[in-house]
Amino acid sequence: MIEQLPQAFLNQMRALLGPNFDNFFLTYQDEPARAARFQYGQPENLEQIPWEENARYIPFDSSLGQSIEHEAGAFYIQEPSAMLPARLLSPKASEKVLDLCAAPGGKATQLAQIMQNTGVLVCNEPIVSRAKILSSNIERMGVSCAIVTQSYPEALAQRFPDYFDKILVDAPCSGEGMFRKNPEVIGEWSQNSPETCARRQSDLLDCAAQMLRPSGKIVYSTCTFNEIENEGVIKDFLSSHPEFATVDTVINGLKTSKGCIRFYPHTVKGEGHFACLLEKSKLISANNLQLVSTTKKTSKYAPPHEKTTKVLSEVKRLVRLEKIGGQVQLFQNSYVLSPIELEMFEGIKLLRLGLHLGKFKGKTFIPDHALARALPAKHIIPLSKEDAYRYLYGEELGIISCNISKVQFVVVSYQGLPLGWAKIVGDRLKNHYPKGLRKALR
Ligand code: SAM
Repeated sequence: MIEQLPQAFLNQMRALLGPNFDNFFLTYQDEPARAARFQYGQPENLEQIPWEENARYIPFDSSLGQSIEHEAGAFYIQEPSAMLPARLLSPKASEKVLDLCAAPGGKATQLAQIMQNTGVLVCNEPIVSRAKILSSNIERMGVSCAIVTQSYPEALAQRFPDYFDKILVDAPCSGEGMFRKNPEVIGEWSQNSPETCARRQSDLLDCAAQMLRPSGKIVYSTCTFNEIENEGVIKDFLSSHPEFATVDTVINGLKTSKGCIRFYPHTVKGEGHFACLLEKSKLISANNLQLVSTTKKTSKYAPPHEKTTKVLSEVKRLVRLEKIGGQVQLFQNSYVLSPIELEMFEGIKLLRLGLHLGKFKGKTFIPDHALARALPAKHIIPLSKEDAYRYLYGEELGIISCNISKVQFVVVSYQGLPLGWAKIVGDRLKNHYPKGLRKALR
């Protein structure tokens, strides 16, 4: 792949790195590092990622992405350096967080994990096909505090002035840091790409600034080495936003400088990445005057009290709901438990609103797949590996031994991981794994 690297890119890197250029250049002979971020316990035999306590390096030729455990959301395969920005932002449980450029969802699901699935996590992606993948990854990883929007940032900024505690702007960029991992990106690069990208990146940061509350924090990140898109964008932003300053911090020994940190493949075990931590001053913003109300007690999309009670009692028959808060609302003909009112998003396209609970078909409550992934089920039928493969492929299964025949819906599991719903019909388990997710893993 070294021969594919554009001469203009190499000249730029030589100027940037000086005597370190040769070390950098040599890394293009190596395979890129791979990693997975685990949700339930860490495999002790794998090396930990220094900046993400829940993640481990995995072998380059690992087939973990094709496993039942992957389908069940036990882990997310994520480029190691890409795990830095969410840790730099370090959202707290119960905060209101926006991931402005969120697809496919590596950092969004990482943010949810750091937030312990509490608070409000708005994950946005303007490209419809990518937003669908984002929504599906949110569901696979059992995230219940997320809202998935498909919007351009300008429209979001109008709805949410001064609203979020923390915002991640993982901006689309020229991708120079990913040349080794995804050589196909090289063909899309030209000497003009960084300037074009920088204009869009500045617009994204402007929108983020409007949506951040006073004293809130933004992490701006890219996967490029280019100074125009990194320090250049930050410099322009600071000069046009005097209410912001960079903040220095340390993550497990890694220090930022003027708020910024750079990863190169010759300095860390990972690809190229840039991140910068910014803080908005405490001053009262003029935007406060237009702040969308968040104090509303009941959404107009909340069903009548009796219906809410019925939905919750159906849900409680199926899963343990104790630890999760929010309001039951009707969203796209389904009941959801959302940390935020649906009317907050008027005019914004929504793909997901909190935890999708299910819907009634006649008198029967059909639980949503997301419910099986997010909360512990009351009735679980463990499957053998063979049957787990068959379930994920969409096949109907026979019940091996089960004394819960009166319960219609059960969760089938593999090695303690919930796979999804099945309905007991006589001595058969009718498959309720969503059709769009079914696949042959063997
Ligand atoms: N944060 C993601 C993750 O960790 O999985 C990766 C984000 S990727 C670097 C940038 C994303 O921004 C892409 O999915 C791209 O479609 C999206 N994007 C493109 N134009 C955008 C815009 N104007 N506003 C917001 N996002 C945009």
